[in-house]
Amino acid sequence: MTARLSILVIEDDKSICSFITTTLSGNGYRVRAAFTGREGLSLAASLCPDVILLDLGLPDVDGCEVLQKIRLWSHVPIIIISARNEEQEKVKALDMGADDYITKPFGIAELMARIRTSLRHNSGSSPATTYRALDLEINFQKRLVLLQGKQIHLTQIEYQLLTLLAKNSGRVLTYNFIMNNIWGPYIDGNNQILRVNMANIRRKIEQNPAQPQYVFTEVGIGYRMRENDAVTAL
Ligand code: CA
Repeated sequence: MTARLSILVIEDDKSICSFITTTLSGNGYRVRAAFTGREGLSLAASLCPDVILLDLGLPDVDGCEVLQKIRLWSHVPIIIISARNEEQEKVKALDMGADDYITKPFGIAELMARIRTSLRHNSGSSPATTYRALDLEINFQKRLVLLQGKQIHLTQIEYQLLTLLAKNSGRVLTYNFIMNNIWGPYIDGNNQILRVNMANIRRKIEQNPAQPQYVFTEVGIGYRMRENDAVTAL
């Protein structure tokens, strides 16, 4: 029997907190809750949880500050719980090292999927050699992109962009993170070059680029690629 994974919830809204803790314990996780940032920081240090769910709007310490303090000593996956009007804070938290975010109100399925994805990316297992979802397959070693078994030709930049997203499938990557990774830190903050390349990729791999099935836009934040079936099947 595998040890039960533990999750720390730092959230001052009692009803959301109890919804999360009930859901997670019902799904076999050990759960502890903290209602303030300070309590959260001390529990994070004493429990060393496998995942932390962190509300950005806490009564005592700013959620981003909690995140920053935990990141000084831990790589534990941190999923931000945010309100709908907190786009800027979400982007800031993601750029500061949060693994993902979930927007209130959210359902059980979405919460569980986010937790599974963050655990998988932090499991330390060797990285996937293949990405596979629906009709798309990417072989990272052979640098091959196949759609319905037929090879798709991408430019160097398009390939780098698609594989960056595929290797982080299921997670949101911010515009800043992607820009830094592909073009380096010295490019200006304008995302135009990224949007142009993404439009080209979508024309090549999506049946209907206006309703993408592989690379989703997270408005104001970045992109998220569909989960890799080749990994979840393991
Ligand atoms: Ca709150």
